[in-house]
Amino acid sequence: MTYSAASGRYETMHYRHAGRLGLKLPAISLGLWQNFGGTRDYPSAFEILGAAFDAGITHFDLANNYGPPPGSAEELFGQVMARDFRPYRDEILVSTKAGYHMWEGPYGEWGSRKNLIASCDQSLKRLGLDYVDIFYSHRFDPNTPLEETMGALAHLVAQGKALYVGISNYPVEETRQAHAILKALGVPCVLHQPSYSMLNRWIENDSTIDACGELGIGMIAFSPLAQGILSGKYNTGDTEGARGTSNNPFLKAANIRPETLEAVGKLATIAKARGQTLPQLALAWVLRRKEMTSALIGVRTLAQLHDNLGALHNLDFSPEELAAIDAATAP
Ligand code: NDP
Repeated sequence: MTYSAASGRYETMHYRHAGRLGLKLPAISLGLWQNFGGTRDYPSAFEILGAAFDAGITHFDLANNYGPPPGSAEELFGQVMARDFRPYRDEILVSTKAGYHMWEGPYGEWGSRKNLIASCDQSLKRLGLDYVDIFYSHRFDPNTPLEETMGALAHLVAQGKALYVGISNYPVEETRQAHAILKALGVPCVLHQPSYSMLNRWIENDSTIDACGELGIGMIAFSPLAQGILSGKYNTGDTEGARGTSNNPFLKAANIRPETLEAVGKLATIAKARGQTLPQLALAWVLRRKEMTSALIGVRTLAQLHDNLGALHNLDFSPEELAAIDAATAP
């Protein structure tokens, strides 16, 4: 059956400007890092992706290496764009990235011009698109001049292969430098994509979040649920099929520290008092900062998507609630 997007899709989502740019992102965006690779069949993937768009999620985040296997998430999303989202291309923001290992040899990773431009061309082929909306340098490369990496990003904009560019996982000083180099090239740094959650506050600790606010760079937080730890499932043991119990290289339930689980238990009590689920509390908390343009979720099931969208019903915090969250998560 041909997909037709829900008519009320823009009624409940909130849209926020990326920093000081005109571009707006949905408060909740969907990433395809883990759950949309070669092992997922099209109908079950599209059940989630179509429902996301129907709920006003206009932004889908990818990278060259998402899968598994690497490249398969872009291929799957390319099929979605060709089969079901084609009429909606101008309502959708697609992002991708280069920087982590993708192919053999000296040009298959990091921040050289060779890597970024070749990788972007490969991504466009897999996605079946003429351009992506946002292209990121996926990580800072200490062995490549930042001028070269930022110059490659600016070149992709000039070529029309990316409408906007951003950086991901960059520490504060390199963020400032990247912004300045891009500015001198006449290209804004539209977004910084760091990890950020109640359990992972490095962007507060090294003041990347303040720098982005000051410079007018938007922010999109990845792993806002700490890869699922902030759902509480590793406390309750309701972990069937969960990332941490599925032989996944990125999260192992056995490695989650008892102190972390204790903090999550306290956060669950705070969520309950607010009338929210724990994932909803985690997303609302990330979005409480004015610098944060979007929370970038990754869901395995449709029920998780609907649960997470419920965060939009209560994004406000009292000072007492924030203090209780800080106390629960204090190191
Ligand atoms: P999350 O922290 O949101 O974790 C997602 C996982 O949590 C899901 O796959 C699911 O795992 C579990 N989950 C989500 N919602 C619920 C719910 N309501 N109830 C119970 N469990 C839930 O984000 P990710 O770590 O997946 O990252 C999100 C996106 O961020 C990626 O897809 C990618 O686009 C981006 N990213 C970027 C990186 C970068 O370097 N720039 C690095 C990592 C991610 P399960 O059911 O299996 O437990």
